[in-house]
Amino acid sequence: MFTSLSDRLTATFKNLRGKGRLTESDVNSTIRDIRLALLDADVALPVVKQFTAGVRERALGAEVSQALNPAQQVVKIVNDELVSILGGETRTIQYAKNPPTVIMLAGLQGAGKTTLAGKLAYWLKDQGHTPILVAADLQRPNAVTQLEVVGERAGVPVFAPERGNIGGHDAVGPTGEGTRSFGDPIAVSRAGIEQARQKQHDVVIVDTAGRLAVDADLMQQAANIRAAIQPDEVLFVIDAMIGQAAVETAQAFQEGVDFTGVVLSKLDGDARGGAALSVASITGRPIMFASTGENVKDFEVFHPDRMASRILD
Ligand code: GDP
Repeated sequence: MFTSLSDRLTATFKNLRGKGRLTESDVNSTIRDIRLALLDADVALPVVKQFTAGVRERALGAEVSQALNPAQQVVKIVNDELVSILGGETRTIQYAKNPPTVIMLAGLQGAGKTTLAGKLAYWLKDQGHTPILVAADLQRPNAVTQLEVVGERAGVPVFAPERGNIGGHDAVGPTGEGTRSFGDPIAVSRAGIEQARQKQHDVVIVDTAGRLAVDADLMQQAANIRAAIQPDEVLFVIDAMIGQAAVETAQAFQEGVDFTGVVLSKLDGDARGGAALSVASITGRPIMFASTGENVKDFEVFHPDRMASRILD
């Protein structure tokens, strides 16, 4: 992730090394290089424009620094602008004053939601919380089973609908899975939250259904669940590998469920990183976590400043 972007930016900065002072044409050609590097990394055009405008403004307005040479000064400006595009401050879960804190997960099928549910639960447990997972993805019977496997790996209990109901679907899709919902995700979510209250779980993670592409029914279902259970956080899980499509998907989910934070999954892949750089800025929602593999421990809090340094290293 980010290797080519990182290489391109480093090469750009190399050109500035050894210069005693920067002319306006140095700044312009650097900005042009940065712009191309970002576009090649799949960063969305509006974000590229905002980024380069920010760099230009800071570079031209920058005080002549005694401590930094011109190249270092530009690196610092680009770094600050990257941090700002990535959301600025680190932000994670804001817990409810009266537990349980309810976290709802949303995203496309295959984005890594169920895997993330296990990782988040494991991380919460590590932080001293007592999470419970709720299987409200009732579009696919396998999703419930998958969440149970994930819960077992994380050592966290899973609240799922009665198995008797699962046999109820009669339509079978091309993958052999039921294509009709076999239960009411709102009822299951409410029952899961009630169970958490009774058994003193202080965080509830509700896994909801995803589809391969954004569709109105899915979005309505997620919006209905959100309205019914009033979660403290709604995390939108997005596959960092989907490139330019990330922006459209994120905007659709923002409109549909108005998420409070983003989780970038598959950050271990060799994607160019544009999704990561675009989503926070386009939606104005913070990236809270990054998922970096298939293991339950492949998960980290997302720090905009550390990510920026990683890119500029
Ligand atoms: P869901 O449909 O959104 O619940 O997605 P899943 O959690 O089932 O994940 C889809 C696929 O992506 C599975 O094969 C996961 O093992 C894989 N996956 C999920 N997160 C990551 C990640 O961070 N890195 C990698 N390499 N694979 C992941």
